[in-house]
Amino acid sequence: MHIKLRIFLILLSAALLSVFKESALFYPLLITLISFIIYFFIEYIYYKKEIVKILASIIKEQKLPLKIKKMKGIFSGIEELLIMVFDELSLKTYELKELAFKDPLTRFYNLLYLEEHLKDIMSTFTNEKISIFMIDIDKFKEINDTFGHIAGDHYLKEFSDELRKSLKKVRTLIFRYGGDEFLIFIDDEFEKSKNLMEKIRKIFEEKEILIDNKKLKTTISIGGGEFRWEELKNIENILKTLDKKLYKAKETRNTLYV
Ligand code: GH3
Ligand code: MG
Repeated sequence: MHIKLRIFLILLSAALLSVFKESALFYPLLITLISFIIYFFIEYIYYKKEIVKILASIIKEQKLPLKIKKMKGIFSGIEELLIMVFDELSLKTYELKELAFKDPLTRFYNLLYLEEHLKDIMSTFTNEKISIFMIDIDKFKEINDTFGHIAGDHYLKEFSDELRKSLKKVRTLIFRYGGDEFLIFIDDEFEKSKNLMEKIRKIFEEKEILIDNKKLKTTISIGGGEFRWEELKNIENILKTLDKKLYKAKETRNTLYV
């Protein structure tokens, strides 16, 4: 709106106000006058000075006015801060989970994880049935007795890394079940899983692990079975079945029994 027209409107309202000061039109006119003034003020200050500048800068891709730039800076600063806090929280949650549910020596899951997260475990697997194997290192006590407990720990760690490596091509969950015992859930057909475990048994027949410059070798015994998902609800039963199969394998050692 042209500036002269604005001044005219304000003066007209003011004149009408003085003419009708005794009548009922006084207050409506007063409100109209005040509204005109406020409207022109706002329009002048913000619309003309700021909004037009912002729009022009967006349209023409010019630099944003300093005030807006500062605001943008504050918002992106807050956003970065929130991302940092979120990252830190995720890291701490991850670290806490690792501490609570992973065995520190082998970095395999512990039994607490099996007990508390059985449903999550089931939800990540896709096969109709699940293959589960229980491994026990043969004559592991001899390593402890001959080279000491620390060397034994070292051996367990190296053994676990080798086991993880040999299972990395299939979807698995590995638990440290006891001292030298491990529980392996494989999301694959039983026949394939069984062949894979047989391959792993043979790998350990050959595999030498270097501890204190000494080449050590152990064989493994394995008990395994195929289970339906419903059976997992009674994990105790499954563990009992696998224990029995492992016991059978231990009769001859270096054996897979299913
Ligand atoms: P088997 O052939 O029948 O399996 O006998 P084994 O000598 O392997 O002994 P067994 O499986 O019956 O017992 C496991 C041994 O592992 C008992 C203990 O001395 C040792 N062990 C258990 N946990 C640890 C550990 O965290 N570190 C070390 N170094 N040794 C452990
Ligand atoms: Mg053993």
